[in-house]
Amino acid sequence: MTNQETTRILLVEDSEDDALLLETVLAPVMPGLEIHRVDCAPDMTEALNRPWDLVISDHSMPRFDAFRALQVLKASGQDIPFIIYSGALEHDRGNSAMRVGADDHIDKGNFGRLVPVVQRALRHVRTTRGMREAEQSRTRLENYDGLTGLANQKRFLEIAGAGLEAGCAVLYVDLDRFMRINDSFGYATGDALMGQIARRLERCAGPGEVVARIGRDEFALIVAADGSRDTARQRAERLMQCFSEAFPVNGQSLFLTISIGIALAPWHGEDVPTLLKNAESAMFDAKRQGRNMLQFYRHELNVDTGLRLKLESALRHAVEREELFLAYQPIIDVETRSIRGVEALVRWRHPELGTIPPDQFIGIADESGQIIAIGEWVLRTACAQARKWHDAGFPDLAVAVNFSATQFKQPGLHDTIRQVLESCGLAPQHLEVEITESLAMQDAEATATTLRGLKDMGVKISIDDFGTGYSSLGYLRRFPIDILKIDKSFVRDVDCDDDSAAIIRTVVGLARSLKLTVLAEGVETQSQLDFLAAEGCDRMQGYYFAKPCDPATLLKLLRSQGAGVPSQEPLFAAA
Ligand code: C2E
Ligand code: CA
Ligand code: CA
Repeated sequence: MTNQETTRILLVEDSEDDALLLETVLAPVMPGLEIHRVDCAPDMTEALNRPWDLVISDHSMPRFDAFRALQVLKASGQDIPFIIYSGALEHDRGNSAMRVGADDHIDKGNFGRLVPVVQRALRHVRTTRGMREAEQSRTRLENYDGLTGLANQKRFLEIAGAGLEAGCAVLYVDLDRFMRINDSFGYATGDALMGQIARRLERCAGPGEVVARIGRDEFALIVAADGSRDTARQRAERLMQCFSEAFPVNGQSLFLTISIGIALAPWHGEDVPTLLKNAESAMFDAKRQGRNMLQFYRHELNVDTGLRLKLESALRHAVEREELFLAYQPIIDVETRSIRGVEALVRWRHPELGTIPPDQFIGIADESGQIIAIGEWVLRTACAQARKWHDAGFPDLAVAVNFSATQFKQPGLHDTIRQVLESCGLAPQHLEVEITESLAMQDAEATATTLRGLKDMGVKISIDDFGTGYSSLGYLRRFPIDILKIDKSFVRDVDCDDDSAAIIRTVVGLARSLKLTVLAEGVETQSQLDFLAAEGCDRMQGYYFAKPCDPATLLKLLRSQGAGVPSQEPLFAAA
């Protein structure tokens, strides 16, 4: 951009003499004048790549004329005053040129008019340019983050709102423990690093996707996801992957991790502010779970009743349309290190949203009563599958099935279970009914009665998520329980948190005195396994052994293990 001291004029003129004359008249009243002469369209186009304050054009030249020069100027997209400078005979044509966009017209030789016209044009240029710059810097300040140059939250909401496409996802990205960097390297380094982070996020974003800095160490992205959780998850994972590379800071390599909250339109919100708010709350969930994690928004279904109704009605057809399926996670016997059972875990393959995990829809199914049909389908499918495994040569395999509150309190529960076991040809001792500790304690009297009925039938009873509810020991004694499943939150923290280790010790001791089997779920590492085995856990379940898998994969796992052969090695590599 030119400053006040210099005046840069692009002169379209074939005659060198006329150019010289013009310069002679203007130079004394315009210090810092620069004139560049062109006389054909290609030269003019090329010259317009540089900044000019004014274009003065002769009317007609052998290879060019003012009309075409005006077109070239327009085509360049530049907003520069254009003055026609022509011989007296061409006056009328000069006037017509003004109608097509020239700003003024001067007769060649009318030097008295030349200076004031040029000066007026330049004054106009400078005022409008000043206003434009002020406006630009104002919008920059209002819309962009000064440190990284990314859009700010206001701008994010505007752009994202204007282009919100069905099925997109908002990712709320928070840098884990960024304060540490400011503390150890100072704010200047922190700021420079922030710039690098912004560039990396931009690189990860797809074309047309918006990246914004919306907080001190928080960013938001809106990405295309086709309404699919799986796609949104992949996008978020790719973002985390981008951070696996170190950032160079003061000659050192610095590693950063991020926590990501995801909100998927339209299920987690139908407008950008709602999606952003929900993605933020999911991000806090991810942080709570230990950082360097991604998390979907969880509570959408309670918040937005419209969407809840949509999902509820879609769920109504899920069973008949065969959209539900079961994954089976091995349960390992610690002593023999072999698979002694599986837990059946339901998933919903939604036609638009992809695979939905159970905690996103079991709650709705439970409250809307649909869990009765779904639960019965799960029970029947799991028992039939267990029977197939028995027939395939693993006759001792047990199957654990989760029961929700409504299902468990249903009057016909015992009859349903008995009927299903009979029709599948599965012995009752191979079915383990899982109810959560908190469900068991809701109405302890009724629970005790229902459980006794199940016990009489020969079915095993397992208390799930143990340690998270508030069981009174008295009730626990009165329930005919077989298995306590220690909640995975305690297992996760066992290495780093003395309280969790103490709780596990207490539970194992308690189970011993009540002659119950103890199962630890969510075992992910060798050191968790070692601790739990040393404490005397009987069974384990978790990603360390195997993730929930389809029946065929499970059969392979069963066949690959020397069943019953004690081993000190874990059965399967961590998935
Ligand atoms: P749950 O009964 O506590 O099931 C264990 C959950 O932990 C499963 O999640 C399983 O995939 C996950 N998990 C297993 N190993 C690990 C591990 O090593 N680390 C971690 N972080 N997680 C692990 P899933 O399948 O998403 O199920 C979530 C919950 O949904 C279940 O929790 C259960 O309460 C409910 N659910 C699942 N299937 C059914 C069903 O058929 N009926 C009912 N009523 N509820 C179900
Ligand atoms: Ca369970
Ligand atoms: Ca559990």
